[in-house]
Amino acid sequence: MTDKGEESAIERDDCEQCGLCCRIFGNSITPTVMNLYSWIEQGRTDILRFFSAARDDGLRVNCADLLPEDLGTTILIEMRDPETGEYLTVCPFLRRIEKERYICGIHAVKPEMCRNYQPWVWGETYFGRCKALKSSDNRYIWKHICE
Ligand code: SF4
Ligand code: SF4
Repeated sequence: MTDKGEESAIERDDCEQCGLCCRIFGNSITPTVMNLYSWIEQGRTDILRFFSAARDDGLRVNCADLLPEDLGTTILIEMRDPETGEYLTVCPFLRRIEKERYICGIHAVKPEMCRNYQPWVWGETYFGRCKALKSSDNRYIWKHICE
């Protein structure tokens, strides 16, 4: 989702950084176990605290309290408010830097799901409201797939 160079969010040059995909889907992002491992290794409790892990013994733990050896017992990871434990309504890492321009505040280490996001892939992650689809290049790809 949203990125340009060091700044952040979408991985594609023609992403217009409107932030719409992050605003709509960002609160349901699920990191992989490898994402968690990497954040633990890097001491990124600022990221980990926004995720809750369900363990195979039925207990829940805030991911900021996880140790690498706990990852083998993790069966579910969800984005949650670290204070209330409730589901979030927006991704906490999205940053608005202009009136209609957003970046990812954790771009360099963002979840794999965000890194691989391709709104132009029909039938998988296609997102018709993505502004990047309006570029002639992507419109061609989209038409080509649909024809
Ligand atoms: S982590 Fe970054 S790329 Fe992923 S939804 Fe949040 S702001 Fe968007
Ligand atoms: S909706 Fe499209 S243009 Fe907007 S931030 Fe997401 S990928 Fe970029």
